[in-house]
Amino acid sequence: MSDDAQRWKDKYLSSLEQQEKLERRWESRLDLLRRGLVRSSLAAEGADKAVDQCMQEMREILRRDDIDAALGGLIPRLEKAVLDSEQRRQQRAGEAATALAGLIEQLQRLQPPREVRKALKSLGKQLQDATSHQYLLPALLSQLSNLQGQALTVLQAPVQEQPGLLQRLFGSRGESSEETAHAGPAPAPAPAPAPAPISEPEAEPATVSETAERTPAVVVPAGEPAAVATLPKGRHQASDAAPMLDSLPLPPGLVPHEEAGDSPFSLPSSEPGYSAVAPHIASSLRSLLDELELPARHQPQGDALRQRLEGNLNWYELVPVLDDLAVLVLAVTDSGQREFAGYLKQLNERLAAFISTLSEAHEGYTASVESTRSFNQQLRDQFSDLQNSVQEAADLEALKQALEQRLEGLLQSVSNHQRQRDSGEDQVAERLQGLVKRVAEMELEAQQFRQHIEEQRQKSLLDPLTGLPNRAAWSERLDLEIARRQRYGGQLLMAVLDIDHFKRINDGYGHLAGDRVLKIIAGELHKRLRKTDFIARFGGEEFVLLIPGTPLEGGVQLLETLRLAVEACPFHFKGEPVTITLSAGIAEFRDGEATEVTFERADQALYRAKGAGRNRVEQA
Ligand code: GH3
Ligand code: MG
Ligand code: MG
Repeated sequence: MSDDAQRWKDKYLSSLEQQEKLERRWESRLDLLRRGLVRSSLAAEGADKAVDQCMQEMREILRRDDIDAALGGLIPRLEKAVLDSEQRRQQRAGEAATALAGLIEQLQRLQPPREVRKALKSLGKQLQDATSHQYLLPALLSQLSNLQGQALTVLQAPVQEQPGLLQRLFGSRGESSEETAHAGPAPAPAPAPAPAPISEPEAEPATVSETAERTPAVVVPAGEPAAVATLPKGRHQASDAAPMLDSLPLPPGLVPHEEAGDSPFSLPSSEPGYSAVAPHIASSLRSLLDELELPARHQPQGDALRQRLEGNLNWYELVPVLDDLAVLVLAVTDSGQREFAGYLKQLNERLAAFISTLSEAHEGYTASVESTRSFNQQLRDQFSDLQNSVQEAADLEALKQALEQRLEGLLQSVSNHQRQRDSGEDQVAERLQGLVKRVAEMELEAQQFRQHIEEQRQKSLLDPLTGLPNRAAWSERLDLEIARRQRYGGQLLMAVLDIDHFKRINDGYGHLAGDRVLKIIAGELHKRLRKTDFIARFGGEEFVLLIPGTPLEGGVQLLETLRLAVEACPFHFKGEPVTITLSAGIAEFRDGEATEVTFERADQALYRAKGAGRNRVEQA
């Protein structure tokens, strides 16, 4: 064999080898793409049934061989499902925003002070945006809850301060049909306090993290109008014997009243004032609740909220009702479904881009397979030409010429093919690299998105006033502890704690002081618990505790510690000490007993503690 022929043979063999390599590389890149798509589709799951269905199908398609054709059929459907899901969300957001706008309008009609009016107006504007940015809704609800608190606090300001407002709203004093338990002679006028801002008081000598040993003076903020709200009788009000606050100093300008049952702080028109607007507010909230499309697992919370709205809401209850509503909205919108829709849309666009790049790349691949095939054919043809020429050659010179000519042609074909394939391969490699980069980006986005959703969820589980877990978090933890107990056994205790005569603190020192007391007590309780114990604000001035792995006596002891710690808190008002106490009931979970029954037993024990004079712990 001549040198040229040997050279040609080597080149041909090496070109076959390279072709094999190229095919192997293709396989591994396709594999990478498939994995990327499967992961991204998993991250997108859970937002909408139709979208989920498409995602599921996509994962199945990716396992098959005919990806091109199958994805081509799926993508238009995915696109439509994402658009539909987005439309439904928009519609729900619009309905929620309309109901909230109605509520804002009603609050505006109360003509609250200028800052509140302005804030309400700006909230109304933001609400319009919330139709397209649904994830803003929970935050807006929470703002509204604050503003409502402020608007209504003003309603409770002494009549002397704002006669115009109250008369405009409710006519002259004494017209109310609701008689309050505190109705009595009008008190001496308070020294013109400004409407209490719902904010932290300036002086804050004690923070909840300070240790009890340092016994910091805890200041109850002054300067708030003393308000008396008529509330429906609570569960524990049966015995109202201990006149604990009788010895407390009175807010400035207020004169104690002699007759038992009469509150010297009574403002006759404040509660009727609220009751005049309550039905409107309750009805707005009800319709807002009706607009929410609650998923089945949130239905019980929705029903409970509706029931609370059916009853006679007092205005302290409104704030927690709004907070609970915010939690529900958050659950429905699943903490930012709007962002999720954006993400899905983007995912969809990227998938579409993928498909086109993938099919382009695939075309390139097919073209290169095609060109290899035709190259082989060319070689085969040239070979047979060569064979013929050799057979036909008459002499050595002719043979040499024919050989040279043919070999020249062969080498030309090989190098042409090589060039073509090199440039094609570069292009394909570039495209594939782009795709791989995008898959990596999408994975990162999916991860960040998941993290964001988790953060939002965590926020929705905290009570904003005390920073303790809220009721939703309580239900979650309760389920967890019960499941744990069923699986591993062991003791589990449940306790219910309730601040004694809390209404008197509100009535005597104002709602702002009440809030501050709640916050401090929450901190005092929390810092005395073990990591495995769990405390939540159950509502109002009531806390619930879960204590695993502790016998009943141990639990009672812990509650005693908590009780003593609260009693020892050096609260004071205007330099005068104020003692605040709590009562508690505790029960042990029993095998096969429904959670509600255990709670009922702990609550009964609390009831007994209240009946027996308060500031004590009773066990079920
Ligand atoms: P008892 O010793 O029987 O528990 O008497 P109480 O006055 O503590 O009980 P009741 O349940 O009658 O009153 C609790 C009050 O707590 C009524 C409600 O207006 C008030 N309250 C509920 N939530 C809050 C809150 O977030 N802040 C303030 N300041 N007061 C609240
Ligand atoms: Mg209480
Ligand atoms: Mg209570």
